[in-house]
Amino acid sequence: MPIHDLHTHSTASDGAFSPRELIDKACAAGITSLALTDHDTVQGLAEAEAAARSVGIVLIPAVEISTSWRGHSVHVVGLQIDPSDQALLSGLKTLQAVRQERAIEMGHRLARAGFDDVLNAVRGLAGDGMITRTHFAEHIVRCGRAKSIKAVFRHYLKPGKPGYVPCAWAPLDVAVGWIRQAGGIPVLAHPQRYKVSGQIRRQLVCEFREAGGTAIEVVAGSSHAPDIAANAELARRFALAASVGSDFHSPAHSWLKLGQAPRLPDDLTPVWETW
Ligand code: AMP
Ligand code: MN
Ligand code: MN
Ligand code: MN
Repeated sequence: MPIHDLHTHSTASDGAFSPRELIDKACAAGITSLALTDHDTVQGLAEAEAAARSVGIVLIPAVEISTSWRGHSVHVVGLQIDPSDQALLSGLKTLQAVRQERAIEMGHRLARAGFDDVLNAVRGLAGDGMITRTHFAEHIVRCGRAKSIKAVFRHYLKPGKPGYVPCAWAPLDVAVGWIRQAGGIPVLAHPQRYKVSGQIRRQLVCEFREAGGTAIEVVAGSSHAPDIAANAELARRFALAASVGSDFHSPAHSWLKLGQAPRLPDDLTPVWETW
């Protein structure tokens, strides 16, 4: 039976494993089809594709794009993209610049909160990959200034906290357009993670669909049974295909272990049946 995991991260953004290591873990976990969805970059895909080929699993070329919608950060996964599409690459380039600028500003703000020389440390941790808030959290934990990544987010990195820098990501409809232009399937990521009311969440899904979105994560990294049920309802209401992804970052900080996702409700159309 095929086992899909359509949302994972590598060292090209905030995952702990290189693309090759991630593929090896996925293979060991029994996954047959894996999407590498690093934040705002396709840099890890070539290595992942070569590794997947060598162990006999299917690599779905993908990306997780940071978008802004009504002042909220909303993530859109693009599955089955052409990673050489120029419109997509130039869009991602603008987001990579936003990440660089934000990291500098986060460094200033965290310095005022008593953390010295954070930016250099974080650049070292991120290497060639995207700099994310996860790297800031990791550095602060390593310094012994917080017990866990979650605690750093809670005290320093969430909206309203000292290290938080609001960002203008790509407008939601524009990012959906990049994905479609690159031949991909736009998937609304982890719908229950946005801190909005049910009504606003439905509005988000409605606008995502109007922009050209065709799928939604029903089994997402943070999914408890009630979240899965709520996502399934959104998939039915807006006639969207259903995706499954662990949002795997590392064994320590992932919500679901690689390859251990619950099943999709039987009445939904799995997104992999649409390609
Ligand atoms: P960024 O895209 O740089 O703002 O970073 C967002 C990433 O931070 C997400 O993809 C998660 O991996 C991680 N993250 C966000 N909130 C939390 C949290 N409360 N605890 C742990 N990791 C988080
Ligand atoms: Mn992440
Ligand atoms: Mn996300
Ligand atoms: Mn993710």
